[in-house]
Amino acid sequence: DSAINRIAAGEVVERPASAVKELVENSIDAGATRIEITYADGGKTFIRVVDDGCGIPAQDLPLAMARHATSKIDGSDLLNIHTFGFRGEALPSLGAVGRLKITSRPKGEEAATISTAGGVQSAVKPAALTSGTVVELRDLFYATPARLKFMRTDRAEAGAITDVVKRLAMAEPHVGFILRDASGGGAERVTFRADPENGDLFDALHARLRKILGAEFAENALLIDAEREGISLTGYAALPTYSRGSSVAQFLFVNGRPVRDKMLVGALRGAYFDFLSRDRHPAAVLFLEVEPTRVDVNVHPAKSEVRFREPGVARGLIVSALRHALAQAGH
Ligand code: ADP
Ligand code: MG
Repeated sequence: DSAINRIAAGEVVERPASAVKELVENSIDAGATRIEITYADGGKTFIRVVDDGCGIPAQDLPLAMARHATSKIDGSDLLNIHTFGFRGEALPSLGAVGRLKITSRPKGEEAATISTAGGVQSAVKPAALTSGTVVELRDLFYATPARLKFMRTDRAEAGAITDVVKRLAMAEPHVGFILRDASGGGAERVTFRADPENGDLFDALHARLRKILGAEFAENALLIDAEREGISLTGYAALPTYSRGSSVAQFLFVNGRPVRDKMLVGALRGAYFDFLSRDRHPAAVLFLEVEPTRVDVNVHPAKSEVRFREPGVARGLIVSALRHALAQAGH
């Protein structure tokens, strides 16, 4: 039922930035090394994601767009989520709330395209594409005007898209990202660009953070690399002198997924407790890796909350690892 699909889809796709997040995560899952994102009018009228990943075979295109047909893992594995995608809902949801077109070409195969509008699929047709995948989403929420009303200004939606892309770019420093604004029909404007970084993960991440957060962060960043009871913590945390007036420079990831989580933010605060006054906030980019069965990242499809099975372990790890790094740096 297309009405039910549209309602369910609104849970996954709340705004243009959530569409961008789903599409870019799919590109990352597909092993892309370069991802280009273009949007117009804050993503409301147009979003395009181009990648050089593994592509989708022509015969799989109808399935990729069909609800619940394609999850990368089956339902029994819902707690065992390694890749970003696990619900098989993103593309069907996008096809229910906008005009979606996918063109793809796996290595050694012909390119093909499929489109859908209002949940109705076209036939698969031959197309022209050298490799990878191009996903275009036009007129988001055109079929659900009530949702359109909740959109913020183009500027605000564009800001949310940029935020999503920068977070994913932090998590994947070896992948190149280009973000373009194509509003107004004129020349496309590059609004963010991060070329693929070289070196091991720490070097690549440091270079990527210099690009995204700036030289001052990079020069004040302490390397974090710790482990406790099977949970690992890596990333960079800034010296207390590089604190901010708000939490704008706090980026937390669980198993590669950007999260916003009170417990983790509280742990970060706790680590700096002795060094920062109440109105200063620590700056850090931290990646927690934990066996998927020990964390639930599926609390809500579009929200980035997480629930740890042993929150105390994650909290203790963050506090002790950061305090240790700060102590080594003379604090
Ligand atoms: P999920 O990511 O949860 O599996 P999606 O609806 O996001 O579900 O995507 C459906 C399927 O389409 C994916 O499982 C994948 O096989 C394929 N797919 C989507 N986007 C891409 C892409 N950019 N490159 C290759 N395959 C893709
Ligand atoms: Mg997906």
